[in-house]
Amino acid sequence: MRKIAALVCFLATLASAQDAEITFKSTEIEPGIFMVEAEGGFGGGNMAVLVGKDHIAMIDDGLPPLAEDLLIHVAETAGGPIDFLVNTHVHGDHAGGNAHFAENGTVVFAHDNIRKRLLEDSSGAGGPGGLPVVTFGDGVTFHLGNIEARVTHMPMAHTDGDAAIYFPSANVIHTGDILFHDMFPFIDLESGGTLDGYITAQKKIWSMANDATKIIPGHGSLTDKAGMKADIAMLVDGRTLIKALVDQGMSEEEVLAANPLAKYDTYNWAFITTERMTRTFYRSLTTD
Ligand SMILES: [Zn+2]
Ligand SMILES: [Zn+2]
Repeated sequence: MRKIAALVCFLATLASAQDAEITFKSTEIEPGIFMVEAEGGFGGGNMAVLVGKDHIAMIDDGLPPLAEDLLIHVAETAGGPIDFLVNTHVHGDHAGGNAHFAENGTVVFAHDNIRKRLLEDSSGAGGPGGLPVVTFGDGVTFHLGNIEARVTHMPMAHTDGDAAIYFPSANVIHTGDILFHDMFPFIDLESGGTLDGYITAQKKIWSMANDATKIIPGHGSLTDKAGMKADIAMLVDGRTLIKALVDQGMSEEEVLAANPLAKYDTYNWAFITTERMTRTFYRSLTTD
């Protein structure tokens, strides 16, 4: 589980390097449903605050060093404390505030595999106090009054414990890290993620949406069904391009040298460069 610690460490470094400048912004995208984003640097994945008539819930809670700032921000957004919180997956840029929120009375929900992984290394949840209190297998549904939130497990996608959250009446979906909009996605092969599971999960989420659905990605800006379609097409095409080279018997280094993803360079970013994305395709296609 040193891998999670290393990732959290990398992300926390990104955050703390610019800590002073990072702030949070909440946008009410549908009545009672707020998308929460970090601004001014890498402050973790996109989150959501759900202000129902009876209960307040939240999706993901960012990085450990920013937990207190986030808690103050979301309490103000929601107009009260957060009753329930669900982690979309185990990574520290999504579950890093767990311990701090739990200390302040929030009940944390997560997939069974997230708790298993955090039992081995709880640094990604901000410490031992960040272990989920309620776990689920296939999914769980929150009834917050006027807002219903259906949490569905997506197997072997970004990790082995991902969930997407669908709000049927509001017509909003939070994808967790099953979508990085307009950027290369991180597919965490070390934590049970697979390329094919990732694409399958994306297609499943995409099919749940209609043209009016608002889609909150794990990273990147708010998007919709058409926006997500382009992201899926990039991955499907990238898979085809790299599979052809794998089938020719090329080694990982030979595939890298051929740079089959060159045309997708605009998806390149600090954490997932074109090189890293190429290696992920290669490794997943040669081990699946
Ligand atoms: Zn993330
Ligand atoms: Zn992640």
